[in-house]
Amino acid sequence: MDKKEENNLLSKLVSFTKRRGFIFQSSEIYGGFSSCYDFGPLGVELKNNIKKEWWNEMTRLHDNVVGLDASILMNPKVWEASGHLTAGFADELVECKKCNHRFRKDLLEKNKCPDCQGELMESRKFNLMMKTFVGPVEDDAAVAYLRAETCQGIYVNFKNVLQSMRMKIPFGIAQIGKSFRNEITPKDFIFRIREFEQMEMQWFCDPKDADKFFEYWLKERMNWYIKLGIKKENLRAKETKKEELAHYAKRAVDIEYKFPFGWKEIEGVHNRGDWDLSNHSKHSRQDLSYTDEAGKKIIPYVIETSAGVERTLFTLLCNGEVQGGRTSTTESSKEVETFLDIDKKLAPVKIAVLPLVKNKEEITNKSKEVYDMLKIHFNCQYDESGSIGRRYRRQDEIGTPYCITVDFETLDNKDVTLRYRDTMKQERIKISDLLSFLNDKFI
Ligand code: ATP
Repeated sequence: MDKKEENNLLSKLVSFTKRRGFIFQSSEIYGGFSSCYDFGPLGVELKNNIKKEWWNEMTRLHDNVVGLDASILMNPKVWEASGHLTAGFADELVECKKCNHRFRKDLLEKNKCPDCQGELMESRKFNLMMKTFVGPVEDDAAVAYLRAETCQGIYVNFKNVLQSMRMKIPFGIAQIGKSFRNEITPKDFIFRIREFEQMEMQWFCDPKDADKFFEYWLKERMNWYIKLGIKKENLRAKETKKEELAHYAKRAVDIEYKFPFGWKEIEGVHNRGDWDLSNHSKHSRQDLSYTDEAGKKIIPYVIETSAGVERTLFTLLCNGEVQGGRTSTTESSKEVETFLDIDKKLAPVKIAVLPLVKNKEEITNKSKEVYDMLKIHFNCQYDESGSIGRRYRRQDEIGTPYCITVDFETLDNKDVTLRYRDTMKQERIKISDLLSFLNDKFI
């Protein structure tokens, strides 16, 4: 795909997500705020569904994985121990001598400015941690940091979880939460932003089992994306070369998706060795070792799976947007339909209830009755404005898997039309059977 096509696709996605209430620019009425985005009514539903799927997958479907919700602000000593405050965890920043644009050195393909081909200045270290002050006085003693990754909250709670839940290794701790990074070159819409959410799981195991568990988790995580309906051919696992590994990492594989702008990481699977627990032991002077069945003390190795909520959402939107796939059959117009091909578990709206006409009270009343019955169980939308064909198309575009139409026949036969997003097939269902019918569809 060339640059122009790439930009076209991206700007189409940006305008679609704004128009249909998925994603807005942060503080838009004030001209926006660099690399921060707000998630609208449909965006927040989609995000919540992604998080729910991840949470259930990791904590319910895997034995020995428990949850945690650590605070964003932590004792700054955490970040000293983790190495985030030292230069080793900073990115290399380069600036163009001609246009003064700034870039992250490791993301450049050539040693030239990608915007104007100008020469670049010497690189310098740039720390990604965002600083703030806690308490009424803004002095050095009050400095705190917005976390740059959620996993440190897990490491510092290792002992608490181990003891309170009487865990035995191997076990995992899963967490979803906000992270903040002062990215040098945030770009590609929501791909690289400064405030985002991570879904991370840290698996603590005996060092001798670490390689085996790395393979296991990598496979599990790849399968999760496939289960969500991401096309296999657009997914790959990319091994990080030894010389490019972070200094603490024993092995790292990026799970990548083929975005319109190329293959990019959506999740990292890392073997972090005993780096984190050893360092927190040293800095906190607390014993974070584990005593195994034979009474031997070990510092467990950590296998980390680290995914981004927004990158998963972006992936799903790129994966599911089908353009010009079919022509409407419901109307005489030859309008080309767009539908969001997204797993029904993830669809922001599950069911739309549509009265055939809005000027016949018996029909609108019956529709509202059906809507009230279903909304307790599913995220539903009631829509009576515009022609029925147009309303179907609006729902298809946001990925609503089922539309229910209440029409004149409903009043006599107590049944409704159920229309499927994917096939546009329609069938009549008795209102009394509707709930159990739909429940079965979402199991
Ligand atoms: P990159 O090389 O793209 O900066 P990274 O290797 O620094 O990513 P990790 O620290 O491994 O990323 O973070 C794990 C996951 O968190 C990423 O795979 C991604 O899904 C998400 N993530 C990291 N940084 C950002 C960001 N700035 N915006 C959105 N999501 C992010």
